[in-house]
Amino acid sequence: MTGEVVRPRELLSTAELHSGVRRLAAELSAAYDDGLLLVAVLKGSVPFLADLVRHLTIQPEVDFLAISRYAPGTGRVRIVKDLDVDIAGRDVVLVEDIVDTGLTLTYIVGELARREPRSLAVCALLDKAVRRIVPTPIAFTGFRIDDEFVLGYGLDFGERYRNLNRVVAGDLADLRARPDAYVAGLFAG
Ligand code: 5GP
Repeated sequence: MTGEVVRPRELLSTAELHSGVRRLAAELSAAYDDGLLLVAVLKGSVPFLADLVRHLTIQPEVDFLAISRYAPGTGRVRIVKDLDVDIAGRDVVLVEDIVDTGLTLTYIVGELARREPRSLAVCALLDKAVRRIVPTPIAFTGFRIDDEFVLGYGLDFGERYRNLNRVVAGDLADLRARPDAYVAGLFAG
């Protein structure tokens, strides 16, 4: 019903997210030296990257990639904003918000690997492992989650909810019917 306040279930609180991000930052700081190149995939990874870099004890460089999907579920992806730096010979960590089927990540990893970095690893905040179609090695994982459509901390539905400071599980049928369905319940007061 229009105007009804719906509160989706919280999956990860702000405190849980921050402790997961701190753990990942410690793992990366132990595994790499200064000069590590973090490649974040726009736009969903931005809050994660912003928190992650502030907990690193090494000095990383950061760059961004943006991709666009031709059609959902096909795995066909193209780069619409490429990196500014040459990654040949560099240690690169790809920073992703969520890995679902693994198709997107497989494409990006393949693309970056062709550029001959010294090493290439993936750091993903959320891993929906049960949905995986292609095997996708994730060296640094924040949280494994079940097969749910999640929102918040960078993850959107129709560009909404990225600015939520926690992660909630949404109902895709609700959202398709009313993309703003959770706005009042999540942000008001
Ligand atoms: P994959 O290619 O692994 O199936 O999909 C990865 C991309 O799909 C993610 O980068 C993200 O943009 C989107 N995605 C997958 N699962 C979710 C989800 O639960 N919530 C949201 N908001 N986006 C998702």
